[in-house]
Amino acid sequence: MSKYRYFIYARKSTDTEDKQVLSIESQLSEDHALAKREDLSIAGVFIEKRSAKRPGRPVFNDIMRRIAAGEADGIISWMPDRLSRNSIDSGQILYDLDENTLKDLKFPRFWFENTPQGKYMLSLEFSQSKHFVDNLSETTKRGMRTKVERGEFPGLAPFGYINDIRTKTIILDKRHAPLARQIFERYSHGDQTIKDISAFLLAHGAVGRNGKPMNWEKIIGILRNPFYYGQFVYWGELHDGRHEPLISKSLWDKVQKVIEQRSHKMSPESSPAVFCGLLKCPCGMSITATTKTRTQINGNFHSWTYYHCSHKSKVVRCVERPVREFLLLPQISALLAEFSLPTEAVSWLSDKITSVENTEIGKNSSVSENLRGQISELAKRQSVLLDSFLDQDIDRAIFVAKKNEIMSEKRNLEESLENLERDQNCWVEPMRNWLTRVDSICSAIKNCDYGEQKRLLLEIFGSNLFLKNKNVVAESDGKSNSPLNHIWFSLRETNKKYRQNGGQKNFCQFLEPPFGFEPKTYGLQNRRSNQLS
Ligand SMILES: [Zn+2]
Repeated sequence: MSKYRYFIYARKSTDTEDKQVLSIESQLSEDHALAKREDLSIAGVFIEKRSAKRPGRPVFNDIMRRIAAGEADGIISWMPDRLSRNSIDSGQILYDLDENTLKDLKFPRFWFENTPQGKYMLSLEFSQSKHFVDNLSETTKRGMRTKVERGEFPGLAPFGYINDIRTKTIILDKRHAPLARQIFERYSHGDQTIKDISAFLLAHGAVGRNGKPMNWEKIIGILRNPFYYGQFVYWGELHDGRHEPLISKSLWDKVQKVIEQRSHKMSPESSPAVFCGLLKCPCGMSITATTKTRTQINGNFHSWTYYHCSHKSKVVRCVERPVREFLLLPQISALLAEFSLPTEAVSWLSDKITSVENTEIGKNSSVSENLRGQISELAKRQSVLLDSFLDQDIDRAIFVAKKNEIMSEKRNLEESLENLERDQNCWVEPMRNWLTRVDSICSAIKNCDYGEQKRLLLEIFGSNLFLKNKNVVAESDGKSNSPLNHIWFSLRETNKKYRQNGGQKNFCQFLEPPFGFEPKTYGLQNRRSNQLS
């Protein structure tokens, strides 16, 4: 249970600004789901049906007052724009976070943490919702709008590009473009920090406008900008740009993942006792670790760790005895080793995945061809519509109504296409990732990488590992809720049989008959790979 108490705040106005926003009920259900998931205590639920364009919302002001009075510590809300779309309310929230009268915010659809980075992201999000309102409240700036429709970004060129004043377009900045590309590549590997990137840029003579090395905000701003793969954000929407992309979308996605992971630091393996959170005591409580240190007479430090029941239960008197860490380590590795595969089996499986994937792609290509045709037809209709609006053949109301109709239909088709493409091989990516992890088992054991061993065991067993009589045991095997649960355990079965046969036969042949390798959970029971080939 978190130490904070939260107010839930849901808001939807009948104004145009909230057309796209979820209903109050749906917001509340996502908020409650988050509270349940993170075990947050709720001090009250508040609903407001007012616009947040201007300050002076009675319910919002009321909860801010109550929080200042100590009735709660934080707010759960669907998205930051539910809390504020104007600079005064945004400012108050950020100020209260700084002053620590408001201690935390939680959003089902937005990551926030009360740290300088979290507050920076929040203020960006706030200024974007304000920008959105600013734009809505103005009459359409036709010039700007058509520029956007043509795929021209109506603003200052980002790092690596320059505004060509002559042609009024954005072109590559020959000096900085290669650097911009390189920082995406460097950061995507996950082994460099923003500080490293800043130093790299400085070493190549790239600095911020003030002449100082680029700071965290600036570099994150670059790495998060879709401009570099060819799209840009305007009015909160993504548009296809006409400028030359510097990187691929997949590289950009990879970088987003790294940023995401970095912002969720506080990883369990950074704690000194590596197996905390992995094991449970048979009494139902969690296993925790204690490290003792002693200074020996010769001045050397001697330290040891032991794992033991947290003894939190008030009903059960736990009798389990503590275990020294060095006794635990070989048990953990041995348990994991049951799930490892020889290298040749890994590459055999990998080839197999590729061949099944290719068969499926062939089957679905005509359907997606057809969908693509319909989508491009709609795009044409959209541009004809825009032309007639600009020629003033139709008025704005008709234009907007028609455009929305087309956009919504287009989105439906695009979604069907995405679903088709995802479903046809929805098992491929999880399967490949799984295989990579199988492959990593051997090295995790060999390198005594216990953080990695713990991650793997958590995936395989979920919360079903117990420390019983100083032994690591798995209760209710195969009932873990990992989506790849079934496949981990059939892998272990196959391994066992192979070893019982004395390891004589080729392991790959041994895999074939009982071992269909797509996960059961993806609804593919009826077409397992070994039946397809
Ligand atoms: Zn216990």
